[in-house]
Amino acid sequence: MGKKTEKEEFAYGKGDLCTVEITDIGNDGEGIGKIDGYTLFVKDAVIGDRTKVKIMKAKKNYAYAHLEEVMEPSGDRVKPLCSVSRQCGGCQTQSMSYERELKFKQGKVRNNLVRLGGFDGDFIDSIMEPIIGMEEPWRYRNKAQFPMGRDKEGRIIAGFYAGRTHSIIPVTDCLIGTAENKEILDIIISHMEKYGIEPYDEATGNGLLRHVLIRKGFVSSEIMVCLVINYRKDKIKVDVTSPVGDNTDYIVCQRELVSDLCKVEGMTSISVSINTDKTNVIMGTEIHTLWGKDTISDTLCGLKFEISPLSFYQVNPVQAEKLYGQAIEYAGLTGKETVWDLYCGIGTITLAMAKAAGHVYGVEIIPDAIRDARNNAIRNGIDNASFLCGKAEEVLPEFYENAIREGSDRDDETGISLTQAIHPDVIVVDPPRKGCDQDCIDTMLKMEPAKIVYVSCDSATLARDLRLLADGGYELAAVRPCDMFCHTVHVETVALLKRTATKY
Ligand code: SAH
Repeated sequence: MGKKTEKEEFAYGKGDLCTVEITDIGNDGEGIGKIDGYTLFVKDAVIGDRTKVKIMKAKKNYAYAHLEEVMEPSGDRVKPLCSVSRQCGGCQTQSMSYERELKFKQGKVRNNLVRLGGFDGDFIDSIMEPIIGMEEPWRYRNKAQFPMGRDKEGRIIAGFYAGRTHSIIPVTDCLIGTAENKEILDIIISHMEKYGIEPYDEATGNGLLRHVLIRKGFVSSEIMVCLVINYRKDKIKVDVTSPVGDNTDYIVCQRELVSDLCKVEGMTSISVSINTDKTNVIMGTEIHTLWGKDTISDTLCGLKFEISPLSFYQVNPVQAEKLYGQAIEYAGLTGKETVWDLYCGIGTITLAMAKAAGHVYGVEIIPDAIRDARNNAIRNGIDNASFLCGKAEEVLPEFYENAIREGSDRDDETGISLTQAIHPDVIVVDPPRKGCDQDCIDTMLKMEPAKIVYVSCDSATLARDLRLLADGGYELAAVRPCDMFCHTVHVETVALLKRTATKY
């Protein structure tokens, strides 16, 4: 055994088989075992398993190994419900009991706060609350984006990418998604076959249909389908962007597709999104509604929301209500407070907080989402929320600098005091995975809110940002993970910071 190079000798080499006991879990849910101090990372192995593995890639101190056989299963091992759970990149922890998965996520957040945030382990243990798990952790996603392609036999398929690749694992009835996904995809695939509509080919840039976005309002039961197409007017003779009913020469097949799709129970909106770029970004920014409404509606925290294809909306609404509830509790609103909600999307947290606050400012980068947010405020009779469109790291410093320069102390738009606006009681942030920009953090510190509530979908960037806020005069008062993405390694967290010192 072993592989020799001129420089170093590794304990194991590619292709070696070994037996290893899995004693830990990595951040990506992989099993970790050790043989004489040499570390093996084994995807799909569960902590407590005794396994036979094959070394795939060996380094000096560690190797990646393939799980060949579970010789003695861990007490935490369960049979995955999905038949493609190992190949598909969507789920990573289906072989683990749900209880164990929750424990793994609690540990992941804790470890990131300690290792990457530099917080003391005992301190984190004293302020961290137990993860909010889901009672029924299946069929929880209200949104799915299926890439389209062909399998080796040339059949048109829809599914999800295999982990870290762009090869599509065919799966139309994903068990964390809605039951309607399969019905909708079956209609689209048979339609493509009938009319010779090509799925998009990433390698050549040819083909029409790239992705199918399906969204369902769990309370409203309304369904939206958005077909992401590689549509170039010069290449395709027909106008696939014309709404049904237009008198242009739009294609029979489109009329037929729309008429088949709108028979699906709950169908409310059918649209196309044009994306002709060679990019990993799924949605194009140009959207044309072919049939029905431009949006679907849903109810969250007792508020009604309209959601456009391009707007962000939490994918697990059952858990989102619990998450928002926790964020509102941490904010400790009494009806008078001025609040900023940065990265507000369609205004879900903003409007939920507005019910209990004096005035709330929402900031969001996507114009469609801001338009939805403003309409959502009107629809819900909320007049103490205002929305600003732009990057949080630009909008917030500009607002702050302008207010400092401004002679008058009244925000003309909202009628509230500018001093109050730039020294709010609470700032809520809910950034994408990359976390907050430094300019955003710096301005938040200058604004000196009494509390900051940080909602995060990536505990590594959360740890980094909490460290910056802690060094800027805030005390980390509470942290609570919430399981929004059951059977995956992703975990949402909400943290509360309280101001301890005046730095500026
Ligand atoms: N709080 C909302 C949305 C959270 S998702 C909810 O719970 O529904 C993060 C949001 O941040 C997305 O809507 C995204 O469009 C937006 N976003 C991304 N980068 C941004 C930036 N630099 N400034 C402001 N918003 C941004």
